[in-house]
Amino acid sequence: MFLTISTSGTPERPATDLGFLLHKHPQSAQAFTTSYGTAHVFYPEASAERCTAALLLEVDPVALVRRGKGKGHGGAPDAALAQYVNDRPYAASSLLAVALSGVFSSALRGVCKARPERAEEALPLRVEIPALPARGGPDLVRKLFEPLGWAVTVEAVPLDEAFPQWGVSRYVRLVLEGEVRLARALRHLYVLLPVLDDAKHYWVSADEVDKLLRAGEGWLAEHPEQKLITSRYLARRWSLTRQATERLELLRLANADDMEVETLDNAVDAVDAVDAADEPGATEERAVPLAVRRREVILAELRASGAARVLDLGCGQGQLVQELLKDVRFTEIVGVDVSVRALTVAARRLGLDRMGERQAARVRLVQGSLAYTDKRLKGYDAAVLSEVVEHLDLPRLPALEYAVFGSARPRTVLVTTPNVEYNVRWETLAAGHARHGDHRFEWTRAEFRDWAERVAGRHGYQVRYVPVGPDDPEVGPPTQMAVFTRAEQPNDEKEEKAA
Ligand code: SAH
Repeated sequence: MFLTISTSGTPERPATDLGFLLHKHPQSAQAFTTSYGTAHVFYPEASAERCTAALLLEVDPVALVRRGKGKGHGGAPDAALAQYVNDRPYAASSLLAVALSGVFSSALRGVCKARPERAEEALPLRVEIPALPARGGPDLVRKLFEPLGWAVTVEAVPLDEAFPQWGVSRYVRLVLEGEVRLARALRHLYVLLPVLDDAKHYWVSADEVDKLLRAGEGWLAEHPEQKLITSRYLARRWSLTRQATERLELLRLANADDMEVETLDNAVDAVDAVDAADEPGATEERAVPLAVRRREVILAELRASGAARVLDLGCGQGQLVQELLKDVRFTEIVGVDVSVRALTVAARRLGLDRMGERQAARVRLVQGSLAYTDKRLKGYDAAVLSEVVEHLDLPRLPALEYAVFGSARPRTVLVTTPNVEYNVRWETLAAGHARHGDHRFEWTRAEFRDWAERVAGRHGYQVRYVPVGPDDPEVGPPTQMAVFTRAEQPNDEKEEKAA
């Protein structure tokens, strides 16, 4: 597997600066051990006028198979020889992308202490990959790289030079030329090589979404082939793909500063509509999507509790905050979320910057994680956790439990979460799959109650349950809600004063 990156320069701005940017000295050949073999970096040419860095990955097919097996997904165990004999050693595939990120990690991040100004600027770059597996052929290669500003030369490699009548292989020879920041160029390759290869050599887990979004920063959200890129990069795992698509959509919205406010609102509503359409119950109860129903039930419980000062923990895009603002009995409303992007969209939805002084005094959006105790959350009447707990990894749940019920300690806490039993009623959902890409778990009614009883017991609350959505006689409602009320204890008042 082989890839070269070249640039040109002048005596004042020598091409050999490429060595600084890649953090690899042009005078020496270096070798790096990676999990799948050895990566070599060397410079076939290095002068002020022209400098070329080459990355050669020598794949160890045995290590590849062993590692695959170790993780439990090395392919059919009885394909004894076939698994060692494959194209991996020769073709630029996802392995090369992994090597790229390992060997040039600082360059990918755009970090260069020695030549910071060169790291920021677009350089005349030429990238050549002699053998790139490309599912979708030269056409797709162009569709992927041209929108990013590259001049693309791509030709299909014949199956056998001696027998042109055999046609072309699935490999292409690719040359990219353009004025591009080096970090940006590397990120294009890091994402698009495996997309073209379309055969990830390792198990794609949830953190791949973060990797994709990090490498895609500044170009993926606007790419016309974003869908294909996302889906292939995430090995077509639909739940991850959906998660990535949603986050890219939020990014696009957050970036769209010059967009008319109205257009933006429509776009936000469109995102909501997608959410609503995916909810169970959306088909049966077209008139009232489950997300809307959930907010109604939450509002009713909050009113019944007499709360005036309310926390919306994990407020997301601020739909509930918006509803709370409409009712003047809620005098102080605080939306908390760990995601800055979600809060940006929430701020726009609420029109925080256009709001009158009195309204503005009632509402605040705060960035914070519910996995940590937070003094700012103490002293409120009620807290809502709507569809939030299932977004935390189970081992983090006790931390949230303590932050909310042990430290913040509002008199009322509402927790909603999907009822996994209901999923069989949701036709589009394959049995046994969590509803959303980012759900770390989904509970049965018994599991939820078990958790809720223990939380209530540990922290001095009483708990009752309210169904949200159609309460199916067999499997229960699509959303389950627990209403926690702090038991009045003489100790509480003392604790509050002391706090
Ligand atoms: N409450 C909203 C949004 C639910 S989506 C609704 O009912 O529609 C879950 C939200 O929880 C996301 O916005 C996510 O950013 C947020 N979240 C996940 N983990 C969090 C954490 N540890 N701390 C704070 N917010 C978190």
